[in-house]
Amino acid sequence: MAYMNSWIRHIHLEEMAREAYDILIVGTGAGGGTVLWRLCERLAKEQLRIGIIEAGDLVVPTHTQNLPTYNVDDVANMWRNPKYVKYYRTNAASGAVPIPIDFQQPIIFGGGMVHWGTTSIRMDPVDLAEWPVSIREMNYYYKIAERIMNVTRRVAAGSSVQEVMLQRLRENGFPEATDIPMAVDFTATQNGRINSSFFFSSILLIARALNLHSFDLAVKARVTRVLVENGRVSGIEAMSRDKKPYTLRAKTVVLSAGTFGNPHILLHSGVGGNAVGHYLANHSTVDSFLKVQRSAFAEVSGISRVLIPRSADRSYQFLLFGGDYYQPFKIKPLSDEWRIWLGAHGKVQSRYENKVTLDPVRRNEYGIPDLQISFSYSEEDMEIISEMAAASVLVASALKMPVSGEGEVCLRHPGGENHEMGTCRMGENPETSVTDRFGRIHGILGLFAADNSVLPTSGTANPTLSTVALAIRTADYISEQLK
Ligand SMILES: Cc1cc2nc3c(=O)[nH]c(=O)nc-3n(C[C@H](O)[C@H](O)[C@H](O)COP(=O)(O)OP(=O)(O)OC[C@H]3O[C@@H](n4cnc5c(N)ncnc54)[C@H](O)[C@@H]3O)c2cc1C
Repeated sequence: MAYMNSWIRHIHLEEMAREAYDILIVGTGAGGGTVLWRLCERLAKEQLRIGIIEAGDLVVPTHTQNLPTYNVDDVANMWRNPKYVKYYRTNAASGAVPIPIDFQQPIIFGGGMVHWGTTSIRMDPVDLAEWPVSIREMNYYYKIAERIMNVTRRVAAGSSVQEVMLQRLRENGFPEATDIPMAVDFTATQNGRINSSFFFSSILLIARALNLHSFDLAVKARVTRVLVENGRVSGIEAMSRDKKPYTLRAKTVVLSAGTFGNPHILLHSGVGGNAVGHYLANHSTVDSFLKVQRSAFAEVSGISRVLIPRSADRSYQFLLFGGDYYQPFKIKPLSDEWRIWLGAHGKVQSRYENKVTLDPVRRNEYGIPDLQISFSYSEEDMEIISEMAAASVLVASALKMPVSGEGEVCLRHPGGENHEMGTCRMGENPETSVTDRFGRIHGILGLFAADNSVLPTSGTANPTLSTVALAIRTADYISEQLK
């Protein structure tokens, strides 16, 4: 138990409340971890006070799949444990089609990256054309993000199943099928440098930051409000695990509490414009499983990770996952029937009516109004969903791998894909966006957002690489102001 609390140095909010910070970051997920690392790198020589505050506890020191004792069932249970995840449930969705909603917000040191699948795809230029940051600039920041996240296409390389699948797809109508870029580190352990972090997470960025600049960290510390005086941020209010409130002073605050955490803080503070909490988006996801006979291949011990990217006339992407690299020491029975997951991620419209708001009645364990979510798919979203379902059958047929089970091409409930975004989206117009193109909250000096909440539109690519790229850009902007 003592070790569980000492693998990274952290202090109590009471101690942080005695300091005056130059920069405070809220949240240690993809956005918060990236901003911390980049600021510590860019400001390494500056005498600045930096702090980072996390609502969750220290639970695992790395991506769960880097743990040799990783057990897929235990982690699934951990992921469902309300101690580490806040669920937003409703079955009362209105809109084109009533679909149950079950969004979830990880509350844990490291955020969603403790569990994420590491799929790291750039947004397509068709989608980036709608963003307030130029494609050229995005490409510059994507390159940095890919470097620090060790993004590679090598994961399934050499597997006969991967080669057969790519060949069949390319010959049968999907010439753009390719290997999925994933954030995993293939560097061998050598010359005394131990690589124990194959799967990337924001905890690695926080570890790198530790070696660049000193910073204070508080965990089990829930930020409830940002404080603004005369149009300028002056600090935050946070509660400790025993629900005691503290005021922390800061000249710059970066909110990286995620798609639900950020608007929750802003709405409860009465800060930000009309767009705060609105334009909630995700990726509509259509799942199917394909049947493969092991005996049809030379060997199937490898894995497959295939991407069919979106195109100008197709507002969705496909991912195919076969085999796994989980549970390295588990002995599994060799079965002749093998299943491949085929998932389609569709673009979802950014609509004002898809939103999070403060619940007028319910309060959370910190005594502040809970969030409620209104979300539905539009008719346009439903058209893309129908196209994805029809195209899934075409992909299965191109692969000569039938869909397993009658009619088993299913629409996943919104939130089940964990790609929520957009509640503090970036844009030029303060009426329809929350931050400007650098992640600065419109109209408030020194207050920024950097995480999935700022993504301007959903596109079709898994969100995290784009979030990391934009968070680096926001950190560069802040460091230029502070140098
Ligand atoms: C099982 C799973 C698989 C996934 N696979 C992929 C994938 O393959 N590719 C991909 O691109 N994405 C994937 N994702 C999504 C990815 O994890 C998210 O896109 C990413 O984590 C979002 O980063 P974020 O910084 O916006 O939020 P988070 O990572 O959720 O971080 C927010 C942090 O803020 C903290 N926080 C919240 N509120 C407060 C508060 N009030 N005060 C203080 N701290 C607070 C939270 O505890 C959390 O640590 C996956 C997610 C899951 C769960």
